[in-house]
Amino acid sequence: MNEHYPFVNPPLPYRCNSMEPYISKETMELHHNGYLQTYIDSLNEALADYPEYQNLSLEQLIRYADCMPAQIRTAVLHNAGGAYNHIFYFSLLENNGQKAATGTLMDTIEWQFGSFQNFQELFTGVALSVFGSGYAWLVLDDKNKLAFRTTDNQETLLLSRDRPILSIDVWEHAYYLQCHNIREKYIKDWFCIVNWEQAEKNFCEANA
Ligand code: MN
Repeated sequence: MNEHYPFVNPPLPYRCNSMEPYISKETMELHHNGYLQTYIDSLNEALADYPEYQNLSLEQLIRYADCMPAQIRTAVLHNAGGAYNHIFYFSLLENNGQKAATGTLMDTIEWQFGSFQNFQELFTGVALSVFGSGYAWLVLDDKNKLAFRTTDNQETLLLSRDRPILSIDVWEHAYYLQCHNIREKYIKDWFCIVNWEQAEKNFCEANA
């Protein structure tokens, strides 16, 4: 992905059919080539007449959006957030059969939540609790403890002190082709393809 305007949709780090049967090729194509592409196109459109913001990264755009002219503020926040959240979500998928965390992340999950299974149940509840469109997150909070968060629409956690470890996109577009309106089935399938290695990497970076 370009660091700045004009942003380009970064290719997925795997093939669109890699997450089958848990997430179908059709869903991945729609999600990446359709939805994420639209966020990126709309972001470029919003910035086209504002050269003063064209060298800012996605993260900087989200951080500075409050200082931008009202005509583009919402579009920048929504679309830079959409790009940022999707790239993070896609980076945390991997279909390698690994069904649980490992390493220091696993140790911390077991220590804080009692067991991996208990963590999974709690995270599922949090993801189900998102009303409408948004994301559920596992973060390292400002006290260096694991915590759950939810965000609405394409809000990010960049303006908070939380450091994201893992996220699940629970917009219906992430699952309606396969699961219709049954978010719980999607969450269960998603747990079979979490990239725990990347989550562990995020955890170690957040802890450093
Ligand atoms: Mn999405």
